[in-house]
Amino acid sequence: MRFLVTGTAGFIGFHLARRLLQAGHEVVGVDGLTDYYDVALKRARLAQLDALPGFSSREFLLEEPGAFMSLMGEARPDVVVHLAAQAGVRYSLEHPEAYVSGNVVGTFQVLEGCRAHPVRHLLFASTSSAYGGNRDVPFRETDRAVWPLTIYAASKIAGEAMAHSYAHLWKIPTTAFRFFTVYGPWGRPDMALFLFTRKILAAEPIEVYDHGRAVRDFTYIDDLVESIARLIDAPPPLPGVGPVSAADTLSPVAPYRMVNIGGGRPVSVAAMLDALEEALGARAVRHLRDLPPGDVERTEASTDLLRDLVGYVPATPLSSGIPAFVAWYRAHYGPAA
Ligand code: NAD
Repeated sequence: MRFLVTGTAGFIGFHLARRLLQAGHEVVGVDGLTDYYDVALKRARLAQLDALPGFSSREFLLEEPGAFMSLMGEARPDVVVHLAAQAGVRYSLEHPEAYVSGNVVGTFQVLEGCRAHPVRHLLFASTSSAYGGNRDVPFRETDRAVWPLTIYAASKIAGEAMAHSYAHLWKIPTTAFRFFTVYGPWGRPDMALFLFTRKILAAEPIEVYDHGRAVRDFTYIDDLVESIARLIDAPPPLPGVGPVSAADTLSPVAPYRMVNIGGGRPVSVAAMLDALEEALGARAVRHLRDLPPGDVERTEASTDLLRDLVGYVPATPLSSGIPAFVAWYRAHYGPAA
């Protein structure tokens, strides 16, 4: 099959593209190589993909008028996986405009491209942050109330809403993922695990928010990619066509559903740090801080729907996922890093 994947220089897009290429598919990538974090890391990921047969890529921002549309016309993919976005909860407090242009306008351009050039399946990355102020755990896709705490969450919910309307109007089979704190090799430098690793190895103090009590449903990258790969083959049917399970969140009016992809074993940040210290063989100097505005105290995914749809749920524990990250970090940045 031919895939168009947005965000292929990013953490998740890189891993997914590599997996698809290794399975013998063709992948056309697009990434705007934004400078939100280290562009050298993004280029290093792309260099890995460039070495694999079947990969080609373009560099542009999705919100550039006409750019995605013309790529769709040239590439004619069977499936689009839309992962490019301005990510990050805290950055969104200072730079809200990046989220509106990248995530709202950018996603709109992707939807327009899929309207003009129909695909078998459009898959789109949303986030656990969409559950926002919801306090009932585990978070279920059927939770109706939407209380976004940040413009990051709001921009992703806007993407979900636009995607649903396109799925309804133009019959585009669409799956929206809600990802939960993804980590692993080639991970993101702005996320806690990477930041903590760098600072612990440099013997610098780290800031631990919510005094380490905040709980996250950490999801290992290989498990996430396995889940996505299986969901690619399970596009939502048109309403009223095909079997729908009791747990399904299939829209009553569109070939659209939303699916959590989470590790299923929520862990406190303090416990994550303990596991990291063990993997590094070094202690952190912990400066305990309050929970910053926009952050949530706890995330926890219900993975019942994922299991129901594809017969698989993430299972890698932090005790093996963190050492795999640390091994990659040392190999990539040097053993003394
Ligand atoms: P990432 O920042 O590593 O990758 C995103 C890529 O998109 C980057 O390479 C960036 O250059 C590119 N990009 C950003 N804005 C763009 C634009 N306007 N046009 C073109 N390219 C653009 O992030 P990631 O961790 O790989 O996340 C992938 C997706 O998953 C994102 O949509 C993110 O919001 C979502 N998500 C990630 C996590 C996580 O824990 N990593 C959790 C929830 C949701």
